[in-house]
Parts: sequence; structure tokens; C-alpha cells
Amino acid sequence: MQAKDILSHFGLSQSGDHVVRSPIDGAEIGRVSYDDAKSVDAKIKKSVDAFLAWRNVPAPRRGELVRLFGEELRANKEALGRLVTLEAGKILQEGLGEVQEMIDICDFAVGLSRQLYGLTIASERPGHRMMETWHPAGPVGIISAFNFPVAVWAWNAALALVCGDSVIWKPSEKTPLTALATQVLFERAVKRFGDAPAHLSRIVLGLRDTGQLLAKDHRLPVISATGSTRMGRELAPVVAARFGRSILELGGNNAMIVAPSAKLDLAQRAITFAAVGTAGQRCTSLRRLFVHETIYDKLVSSLKSIYSNLPIGNPLEAKTLVGPLIDKGAFENMERALSNARDEGGQIAGGGRVLENQFPNAFYVRPAIAEMPNQTATVERETFAPILYVMRYSKFDEAIARQNAVPQGLSSCVFTQDMQEAEKFLASGGSDCGIANVNIGPSGAEIGGAFGGEKETGGGRESGSDSWKAYMRRQTATINYSDALPLAQGIEFAV
Ligand code: NAD
Repeated sequence: MQAKDILSHFGLSQSGDHVVRSPIDGAEIGRVSYDDAKSVDAKIKKSVDAFLAWRNVPAPRRGELVRLFGEELRANKEALGRLVTLEAGKILQEGLGEVQEMIDICDFAVGLSRQLYGLTIASERPGHRMMETWHPAGPVGIISAFNFPVAVWAWNAALALVCGDSVIWKPSEKTPLTALATQVLFERAVKRFGDAPAHLSRIVLGLRDTGQLLAKDHRLPVISATGSTRMGRELAPVVAARFGRSILELGGNNAMIVAPSAKLDLAQRAITFAAVGTAGQRCTSLRRLFVHETIYDKLVSSLKSIYSNLPIGNPLEAKTLVGPLIDKGAFENMERALSNARDEGGQIAGGGRVLENQFPNAFYVRPAIAEMPNQTATVERETFAPILYVMRYSKFDEAIARQNAVPQGLSSCVFTQDMQEAEKFLASGGSDCGIANVNIGPSGAEIGGAFGGEKETGGGRESGSDSWKAYMRRQTATINYSDALPLAQGIEFAV
């Protein structure tokens, strides 16, 4: 199926002022129109109206809408997954995987809709009861990045909807078509549901100023924003200034430690998937590899040989493992980072543009391995491209300290068969990241766990575990069923 067939499959119009191009070959795949301040304002107003009705619908019934949406996703997995590949450039397996992740979070949210539990708390006063109730928070603004154009919205939206919130979504300007297709599927679910309020989910299209309109708006008590640390730095103060709540999912600079006891065949596969998968454009992509000095030469030489045979090319073809970068800017960032790494004493294998003749308007690169003398300024930055910085270590504690010595704190992992090392890595003095894995790479998280990271990654959590609480407001209630009015802390106040 070509882009135009997929767009007509979703009934999407192909007109608008803004051209959308595929990173696969630079060809136009659709057109969209951007919102202006007036239309954003009108859409937020509709989101508020939808919220006011939706918050009164019982949560398990709200779950039914998400269940129906999950069915629409299942029925359209192939078409939407293909559109993800066409618009974001990830290989088809990953495009389909992204839609599967949406389905998984819908399933999770359906179960959650019957489990929005509060606490009953022992009161210190006789004849009193205390309880904690979770209420819907309000319309949730969702700002998403290009590299997970639909799954990240689904992590937020599926939870927010069962929590009783409406959602208003500003997708990345690089991937508006997948957002519009997702909205079509959501509307189909709404239709089958029957009596859901209109405008439960809205899309606003535009550049970062459109994101700022959401950030500033006091009618949106929660803003969930996924993207670069730069974006978070600009957005968070705006939301905080109006006492809104931000859920920030920002840049990562993820590491793996490979210890002498590691199963190297597993480590190699994990490294390759995490470092070159999605062409190094995952927030959880592996960027820093610390290898024990006794196995360094063996592991690095076999990685180099794997890298020299990687199938790079059109992500729609089944044999391809590495698709294109999103655009020219991403390619230039990669070139700059490699040149800086070289200046800092790095030895680079790979890198550089490939397939330029076949795809003159797209940016395919050979993933690079940069052997670094130490953790230089370039290594400490997130470059959103397939560059793996490799460093030696001799002491395990020193490897953990170096792993933690970067501004970001998203994902981390260790490959070891030594129980002491594994436990040290996971203990309070171990990895400082939101995600810490043993004998698994840093990317490819399951939706059941809370997803997010510390430090410049923003501190937000989305997806599983108790992340839902960020989409609700907590209310503590004390009920007096006695004939007296005792005050807390035994205070006497006779009138
Ligand atoms: P980006 O920061 O350029 O844009 C992300 C989104 O924010 C877009 O919708 C954009 O229009 C909007 N935006 C940008 N500046 C804004 C501002 N000042 N105010 C309001 N909105 C603004 O990021 P990108 O290039 O699309 O994505 C790559 C980045 O996202 C990487 O840094 C990656 O690590 C990060 N990311 C993080 C996670 C996570 O869960 N931690 C997941 C995916 C991507």
C-alpha cells in the first residue's frame, strides 16, 4: 500500500498548505493545514466541554471506549504501522510494533478502568473515617515527538481517557498524518460506543508555537510533553508559571555495562538492536557502552564486523534493519558529533551517508562505533543518530559512576552473570536512571512498567504501574459519623 492508498483507507483528505514528506525518499506523501491561535482556543474549549461530561461517566464504562479503540487498532494495525514507517522512517517491523504498543496500552487501560483505587486511612478520631479518592484532572494536553509518532500519544490518551479526562494532542510537525489516522480510528470507536461526548480527543497541528499555546493555557491542568531536553526546558517553566502539572519525557543518553562474565552473544544482539534500531532515533537508544578491559577487544571487533554487514535501506523492505534518519538536520547533527568525537581523540568506524544515488532526497547513514578515550563533552550529549560511544573500564563501581555521570537519566543496563554486580547495579547506589535492566538492552520497554527517567530526562512517568495517578487529582475526605466534633491533634476549642 502506498501513502495515498493508506490515506484514503483512513478517509483522510490530501489537501492543505503544508507538505508532509517521507524520510524514505523525500517524496510528498500528504498535505495538512496548521491550526492558528483562534482554532486552538476553540478546540481547547471543546475539550473542556467534553471533559465536563466524560468525568461523570463511570470509569469501567470509559474503559469500554478504550476497548473499542483497541479493536479498531487491531483491525487496522497493518495500515497504521505502514503509515508510521512511511512518515517516521522506522522499519516496518517497528512500525507494526508501535501499533502493537498502542493495543497493549489499551488493554492495560481497560483493566485499569476497574482499578482506580484510593485508600481508606485510619482516623485518629473516634467515629471518623478517612479516605482518598482519585478524580479526573481535566483536559490533558499531549505534545509528542516524531520518533514514536503514535505510541506515546496512546500511552497518555488510553490512561487519561479511563481516568475521565479529555485529550488534546499536538503531534510532531514531522508526523502529522499518523496522528490524523489515529484520530479517525478513535472517532470510529466513539461512534460504536454510542453516547460519548463529542471532542473527547482533539488534534492541533503546528510547530512549537502551537505547543506553547497548550503549555500556556490554564484550562489544561496536565501537559504531557515528549521530546528533547531543549523543549522541556522551554515548556516546563511556562506550565509551572500557571501551576499546571507537567509530565516530561525528554532526552536520554543510555548506557550498557558489559562485565567479564556476560553472555557475549546475547550482549551483542542487545547492543545492535538498541544502538542501530530505529536508526538510533529512540529516546532509549544505546549510546554509551562500557566494556570490561578483559573482553573489550573481542566484543568491539565482533561489533565492528556486525556493523559492517548491517542491511541499510528502504524500511519497507523486509530485509532492512536500518532505515533513514528523519531529515537533513539529523544527518548534520550526526556528522558534527562524529567530527567532535574525532577531535576529542575518538577512533571512528562507520558513519557517513550511504545510498545517496538511490535516495538523493533522503538521509541514510552507516551506523558508527566511536571508541573514546574517556567520557568527553560529545559523549555526554544526546545526538539523535546511530552513534555508539565505546569505552573501557576496569572496576565495576567506576563503570557505574561513569554511567551516571551524564545529565540525562532515562535507561541503563548491565550484562553480567555475577549476582553481586547485578544487585549492585539495581541497588540505591547503582544506576540513577528511571529504567535499569539486567541482561536486556536499554530500549524496547514493555507497557506494564512506569516509563520515564530522571535528571534532564524530566522525571515524568507514563504507561504502566501507577503512572495513571498523574492524570487524576487526589482528594482526601474525612467523614464524621459520631455525635461529637473532636478536633485533630486533640485541640480543645470550646465555643
Ligand atoms: P523536539 O523537542 O524537537 O519536539 C518534540 C515536540 O515538542 C514536537 O511536537 C514539537 O513541535 C514540540 N516543541 C518543540 N519545542 C517546543 C516548545 N518550546 N514548546 C512547546 N512545544 C515544543 O523533539 P523531536 O526531535 O521530535 O524528538 C526527539 C527527542 O525526543 C529526543 O531528544 C528524544 O530523546 C526525545 N524523546 C523522549 C522520549 C521519552 O519518553 N523520554 C520519547 C521519545 C522521544
